Amino acid sequence: MGVAILTVCSKWAMVSIAGVIALTFAWKLVYHLQAKLRLLLCLGNERQQYWATPKSDIFPTVKREILWAPMFAKRHNREFKLSRAINVGTLPTRFQGLFLIAFLGVNIAFCTLSIDWSAKRTVVLKEVRNRMGIMATINMMPLFVLAGRNNPLIGLLRISFDTYNLIHRWLGRIVVLEALAHGIAYSINKVETSGGLAALGKTIRTSYSLQMGFIALMAFVVILFHSPSIFRHAFYETFLTVHIILVALMLSTLWFHLNLSGQAWVPYLKATIALWAADRAIRLIRIFYRNVSTKMSRATVEALAGDAVRVTVTMPRPWKFQPGQHAYLYIPTIGLWTSHPFTVAWSECKEVIKFDNKELSLHRQDIFTKEKPTMSFIIRRRTGFTDTLYKKAVSSPDKLFSTVAFAEGPYGTCHSLDSYGTAVLIAGGVGITHQVPYIQRLVEGYRDGTVATRRVTLVWIIQSPEHLEWIRPWMTSILALEKRRDVLKIMLFVTKPKSTKEIRSPSSTVQMFPGKPNIGTLLDMEIENKAGTLAVTVCGSGSLSDDVRAAVRLRSHKANIDFIEEAFSW
Ligand SMILES: Cc1cc2nc3c(=O)[nH]c(=O)nc-3n(C[C@H](O)[C@H](O)[C@H](O)COP(=O)(O)OP(=O)(O)OC[C@H]3O[C@@H](n4cnc5c(N)ncnc54)[C@H](O)[C@@H]3O)c2cc1C
Repeated sequence: MGVAILTVCSKWAMVSIAGVIALTFAWKLVYHLQAKLRLLLCLGNERQQYWATPKSDIFPTVKREILWAPMFAKRHNREFKLSRAINVGTLPTRFQGLFLIAFLGVNIAFCTLSIDWSAKRTVVLKEVRNRMGIMATINMMPLFVLAGRNNPLIGLLRISFDTYNLIHRWLGRIVVLEALAHGIAYSINKVETSGGLAALGKTIRTSYSLQMGFIALMAFVVILFHSPSIFRHAFYETFLTVHIILVALMLSTLWFHLNLSGQAWVPYLKATIALWAADRAIRLIRIFYRNVSTKMSRATVEALAGDAVRVTVTMPRPWKFQPGQHAYLYIPTIGLWTSHPFTVAWSECKEVIKFDNKELSLHRQDIFTKEKPTMSFIIRRRTGFTDTLYKKAVSSPDKLFSTVAFAEGPYGTCHSLDSYGTAVLIAGGVGITHQVPYIQRLVEGYRDGTVATRRVTLVWIIQSPEHLEWIRPWMTSILALEKRRDVLKIMLFVTKPKSTKEIRSPSSTVQMFPGKPNIGTLLDMEIENKAGTLAVTVCGSGSLSDDVRAAVRLRSHKANIDFIEEAFSW
């Protein structure tokens, strides 16, 4: 049934998806190669004058008006809130908006083009029903891939998980609308041709395939209504559990519906189920491989001033991570089976020397070193898992406890800053966890002559100086690095100091100020003194990210500048 339409729709849907992937890949490849070339050419070059200013107006305009532009005036990451607790979501960027409109347009075209609208009503309804059903099924493949933690497109196209998640949500809405249109077209046809609602009701009661289709449709509708930001953010764990149950119900009933009614598009459903199962299986394998060996991974959780904890997980196997990556943390004693994403703020690999029979050995072969890799997180207390974790740490002796923990990851991509002459890293509060590994990498790279970076400025906005404690041990290591003073400047802004005595600048390269920074003035100073291309990265609250985005856009023609944003939400 509908084989000809299926062939056309599936062929062009695949061509469109492959086309978008190929174009994005080509764009990212050019960007990557340009960065590599810049890195090589700038290695021994102090001012990097050639790379400092844009060579034409076209790219800065495209960046300012499309790639970095919020949908309207300024708002992108700052959430719309009904109250302090009720968050109703964010707006996509202009580029994301254009992509989503194009995606919707392509779907409407597939579902409507070349239908003979002058044909008999039953024929038109049947055609619409088939196309909607086919497109809903085909779209489920990207829908599932984009929601997976192991989405291969994250690494291939270097696009972050939260962007894919945004597309996943909109694609999901399109799929549900298509499934609804499929069901409605069928129902209208049945009512009009077979004797009204009673006949439709009787068919559904007697046909197992239709019953299954009906349940799948209801699952789709419930998914649509339980997924908005307001529920996701307020009850994330409940949302996730219900979402997975509904998705499993939808897939299984759809399976029977399509198989029993002999639809030719069953293979697309099989592919979707396989992709979903593969993501789940890879996650399980990752968790076991990373955390289980002769010993299991364990975490030490330490309560810190300023409503935060430092969690250090000791892993049984060596592991590597890159700046900007995160891992999902499972602490069964606190959150049972749930997992939460946290940015890896620091990772070390300590070599422990062991001796055979625990005695000092005279024979070299009896001595072996054992690597003990650790990864550390700073976790700010919110209201669920993080709150329980904090309370448990605070009530433990020495405000410290040790427990079994599993880390799944690392996930996410590193936006390499190695090829930028100047890097301005802006963090708000716990957003510092994203910036610390980049600072370490750039300062070490400067010392070793492996990066183009000549100037790194960290701007960290905190409410109180006690938040400095969060990263003190790691910052001490970074500040002790050779040549650090030549390259790294730290500006700390304390927004709620208890007294002015708290605001003390330890040195000319580590300065402390009261209040919030003026991002525009800071960027002007950096542009004035920059070397080569400038990277501005931000990780913090939505409003901080939007301020930085607006300030960078205003200066996109003044310097060769790139803007990179990391958000701790989706
Ligand atoms: C890529 C990434 C990196 C992050 N890095 C850090 C970090 O380094 N330090 C830090 O303190 N926080 C970080 N976060 C935020 C952190 O994951 C949430 O604060 C934490 O999951 C909240 O847990 P909770 O149960 O206390 O949340 P709640 O108080 O119940 O909710 C607070 C917010 O967290 C969201 N949230 C809750 N559970 C999850 C979950 N399992 N997955 C995703 N979001 C969830 C909710 O939607 C809500 O918006 C990061 C988030 C992401 C997406």
